[in-house]
Amino acid sequence: MAKKIILADSAGVCFGVEKAVSTAEEQLDQEQSVFSYGPLIHNPQTIEKLEAKGLRVLDKIENKKGTIIIRAHGITIDDQNTLESNDSNIVDMTCPIVKKLQFAVKSLYENGFHVLIVGDHKHPEIIGAKSYAKDDITIIRDLNQLSQLPKEKRKIGVVAQTTIPVEDFWKVVNKLKKIKKIELKIIDTLCDDIHNKQIEAVEIAKDVDIMLVIGGKNSSNTKEITKMCKDINSETHQIETFDQVSDLNINFKDKVVGISAGASTPPWLIKKTIDNLMMA
Ligand code: SF4
Repeated sequence: MAKKIILADSAGVCFGVEKAVSTAEEQLDQEQSVFSYGPLIHNPQTIEKLEAKGLRVLDKIENKKGTIIIRAHGITIDDQNTLESNDSNIVDMTCPIVKKLQFAVKSLYENGFHVLIVGDHKHPEIIGAKSYAKDDITIIRDLNQLSQLPKEKRKIGVVAQTTIPVEDFWKVVNKLKKIKKIELKIIDTLCDDIHNKQIEAVEIAKDVDIMLVIGGKNSSNTKEITKMCKDINSETHQIETFDQVSDLNINFKDKVVGISAGASTPPWLIKKTIDNLMMA
């Protein structure tokens, strides 16, 4: 049995995910034909539960009779327009903080700024946000890729993927601030909930023997928390469910175990992990 378990206060679902999931559940209680365009959130176990209640996940836009829920990460402006022109009832569960990013990109673009997003160009949130600037946009993951910014651009607007580490964003901004000939507009689109999770998880990881980060393999914020913890504690492991721990061959006996979880991880998965740890 683990000697001690330290659970991060900030572990688990954020308000954006909570709202998307509870709204899907309400819709499923009211009607039979409920769809989400793309996975509603990045947690396979929650999606399985919603699918068991009748949710169907669409991987392309279809003109469905019924309700289509727009996922928490948002979609492109073209997809949004197509969905809204169809016969379906649309319930937009794009998180307000992701909406802020989309509006920031749109506003910068409309005001003549070349938009620079610091984030992962393959993430659905960024694919959606990017569409608000047509093609006047550069996406870099971090400072090392800043050379991708076209040299001739003189008005630069910088925003961030909501879930990247704060430092990654500000390193880029601070470098740009040193370039004299550009007009720089910075809009902070980072999510505080994720920032708190990252800070707390790293603090816990410093003091424990083993750090577990619970969350979907497809959840980029969970992967980011895991990476940050692993940088200071090599005994950090990301799991979706406690069942996966046996594959890792970890001996918990008399160990101090820290736990954090990504923004899509439901409370029941965290509780199940703790219950199992008590017996491991
Ligand atoms: S992690 Fe932050 S930005 Fe993403 S859905 Fe949750 S509250 Fe919104």
